Amino acid sequence: MCSGRVDLEFVLRAFSNGMDGVFIGGCRLNECNYITHGNYHALNMVLLCRKIMEHIGLNPERVRIEFMSSAEGILFAEVMSEFGNKVKELGPLGKREGIDQNELKSKLAEITKLVPYIKVVKNEKLASRLVNPEEYDKFFTKDEIDKLFSEVVSYYIDPEKCQACMTCAKRCPAEAIISAKNQIHVIDQEKCIKCGTCFEVCPPKFRAVTEITGAPVPPPIPEEKRTIVRKGKEK
Ligand code: SF4
Ligand code: SF4
Repeated sequence: MCSGRVDLEFVLRAFSNGMDGVFIGGCRLNECNYITHGNYHALNMVLLCRKIMEHIGLNPERVRIEFMSSAEGILFAEVMSEFGNKVKELGPLGKREGIDQNELKSKLAEITKLVPYIKVVKNEKLASRLVNPEEYDKFFTKDEIDKLFSEVVSYYIDPEKCQACMTCAKRCPAEAIISAKNQIHVIDQEKCIKCGTCFEVCPPKFRAVTEITGAPVPPPIPEEKRTIVRKGKEK
């Protein structure tokens, strides 16, 4: 596949499945046959991934991207051999870094769940084209990544405002909204991928979805209290 199709989630999945290193090979920068130049996107994704790895205590050298043409077999062999040796030197994922395997699994699962959110928040940077390799390392900063995770946004439906119009549930890409006719809608926080769609589509006359940053989400309204009794239908 095009290197631009290699999602951050794929890299995290490889690590979750026990890989000790991930290599991504892309066409040479500026030699893409399409206007999309997906290899720049792949580069940005890898730079972001490396900083996220540092954030969770993993050695960022476990992920590498290189650009080369299909005619450069020798270069490919050299790079793969060098990377293979590097990964061997780093040893099993997490062990060298001193992270407990269960803790590592849960950290990777937590980050994987946030991938759609990360992509929305970092959308602009992920789409940019870095021309100078000297910019690579400082493109995403440590502070920026710390902030990304300390200010994770959650979405909550205010039971006082929800009118059960069902718009949010129909548009939610993760089927994370518990929805039924005349029932106050509730977000299943376990399923929610924090894409913000419900926040955007809830009609302005209701504004029932709120964004919560860096604070716990209120508990969901109990099931027996979710029925909306419309005016004129009350006995
Ligand atoms: S933010 Fe809203 S639309 Fe997006 S996954 Fe969560 S509940 Fe669904
Ligand atoms: S779009 Fe808004 S009002 Fe409609 S069901 Fe969802 S939260 Fe409730």
